[in-house]
Amino acid sequence: MNVADTELIVGILRRAGYATADSPASADVILINTCAIREHAEDRVLGRLSELVRFKHERPAMRFGLLGCMAQHNRAALLKRAPWLDLVAGPDSYRRLPEMLGRAQFDPTVDVRLDREETYAGVSADHTPGVRAYVTAMRGCDKFCAFCVVPYVRGRERSVPPDAIVAEVAELAANGVREIVLLGQTVNAYRFGEIDFGRLLAMVAAIDGIERIRFTSPHPADMTDSVIDAMAAERKVQPQLHLPVQSGSDRMLAAMERGYTVDQYLRLVERIRAAVKGIALSTDIIVGFHGEERADFDATLDLVRAVGFDSAFTFKYSVREHTRAFRLGDSVDEEEKGRRLAELISVQESIALARNRELLGRETAVLVEGPARRDAGRMMGKTPQFKTAFFPAAPGIDTGAIVNVRVESVTAHSLTCALA
Ligand code: SAH
Ligand code: SF4
Repeated sequence: MNVADTELIVGILRRAGYATADSPASADVILINTCAIREHAEDRVLGRLSELVRFKHERPAMRFGLLGCMAQHNRAALLKRAPWLDLVAGPDSYRRLPEMLGRAQFDPTVDVRLDREETYAGVSADHTPGVRAYVTAMRGCDKFCAFCVVPYVRGRERSVPPDAIVAEVAELAANGVREIVLLGQTVNAYRFGEIDFGRLLAMVAAIDGIERIRFTSPHPADMTDSVIDAMAAERKVQPQLHLPVQSGSDRMLAAMERGYTVDQYLRLVERIRAAVKGIALSTDIIVGFHGEERADFDATLDLVRAVGFDSAFTFKYSVREHTRAFRLGDSVDEEEKGRRLAELISVQESIALARNRELLGRETAVLVEGPARRDAGRMMGKTPQFKTAFFPAAPGIDTGAIVNVRVESVTAHSLTCALA
């Protein structure tokens, strides 16, 4: 999502006459787009800021700004902590960036107004060239999970008008993009008048030149029949779903205010697997949420084994100011969180390896992304299930092509293949 927002910011600034500098040393403006989801993300930004501030000391005319969710989260406090910041702008303020940069010549400027209407519809982003492009379908979130800062820093849920999405995707297709990833914090909650997310998938699938469609992140509570039916019916919608579960304990899910039970989640997985054959499932899990006992964590391990996720993003709970869980506290100490995280990762890795082993000897279609980074003579691409595949370079196998490969060896994270 931050990649997509940064592409939007670059688009806005380019139209205002700015161009991308080759290095921070030669830049007149340095802007850092940020995430506030966990304290760790914020700490990394503060570290990066203190690295980059030397350019400001060397060239005082340089303008230095902090954008995005952390700007929204910490607001004026940031200027106290980092007084050399010239500009602080939240996620709904990007249209005003050129004007803010003008003012920042003279005075520090802060704009963290959230705007219920802002979708940046029709504002074209400077998409990074490649076979895949990220397109924002909706912004904000209305779910207010107890642990999560997103609704406070990105504001209320709002959907981008479908005609703006279709126009953006058509332009990307004309520029050679073959895969679209629709984005939103609860992307399947998309609704614009009569158009729900299932209809939107069908509209994007109708665009010539686009071969593959994915989306992230859907919320389990919004996984309607309309969405599942569209996934099953539309050939271009890929058999892959990132479906964050957060915990395998009903007690924790209730405390997190996620809006579903373990049983409901498992039944949803069953419905999806029945509708979309061979679908790969991934998830997000938080360990050590306030009040999590060993038995709750064991229930999470049970759920992970029961579903057999292809992959998972796992996080230690991080208390966030402004959230509903903020006042509850943080009952699991850091060491115990670390132990639970390591245990969860090790269980998940062995499941991922076992799932990938099932693919040995099978043929699969890969969308070629380009040369493998660390392996000369090899190419890299993604399977329909969004697994990373490596295979030999050969004449005619170019970036953007879809080729058939046969899986020869696997790890928990990638497939090594021969051309089929
Ligand atoms: N909208 C998505 C998630 C967005 S945040 C959804 O609801 O599924 C991405 C992930 O960060 C979350 O799924 C959650 O696992 C993790 N996360 C969010 N807040 C967190 C916190 N306070 N501490 C630790 N992990 C958190
Ligand atoms: Fe955060 Fe929950 Fe919204 Fe996801 S659905 S962004 S976890 S509040």
